[in-house]
Amino acid sequence: MNYCSNCGASVVLRIPDGDNRERYVCEHCDTIHYQNPKIVAGCIPEWEGRILLCKRAIEPRYGLWTLPAGFMENGETTEQAAMRETEEEAGARVEITGLYGLFSIPHISQVYMLYRGTLVDGAFEAGVESLECRLFDEGDIPWEQLAFPVVKETLKRYFSDRRRGKGFPLQRGEIVKHPRREPAGSPQATASEDRG
Ligand SMILES: [Zn+2]
Repeated sequence: MNYCSNCGASVVLRIPDGDNRERYVCEHCDTIHYQNPKIVAGCIPEWEGRILLCKRAIEPRYGLWTLPAGFMENGETTEQAAMRETEEEAGARVEITGLYGLFSIPHISQVYMLYRGTLVDGAFEAGVESLECRLFDEGDIPWEQLAFPVVKETLKRYFSDRRRGKGFPLQRGEIVKHPRREPAGSPQATASEDRG
């Protein structure tokens, strides 16, 4: 940030009185510009046992597969955001069946909230941000061509839960940038993530 969005003056990076970390501060109008993590809401759209994925038509990760997900808009709930992103990116209407994944990605200051959802009528078509959308059986998931580690981690846990057949308990985790190792089967399993 270079300029104050309130008055247009230059901002400086300093620790405001009574605070304990650096903020962009406008010394002209005294506005403190707090910056906080963004929430990415998305969906794991299911139809007759298969999962709907989107091939990205935009950077980053052009041409790789992902779950429909995106930044929340002001004034909507996380469920509405997940449904809107699924409609926009995959042309599909979903009924949300539950929150499944809650992942922090601290190094890019994002929080992912991924819901399970069922297609309302089985219809879908690629939106402007997708090259194509396709339903995948577990055995056909393009694991090496997934756009983001958080997507891979979510799908891995999702299919594991489905095989176990005891429901879909909330999955939590942290996606780290440079993992030294990936603890197999750990509930805190991490994966690398270098977006942003
Ligand atoms: Zn200002």
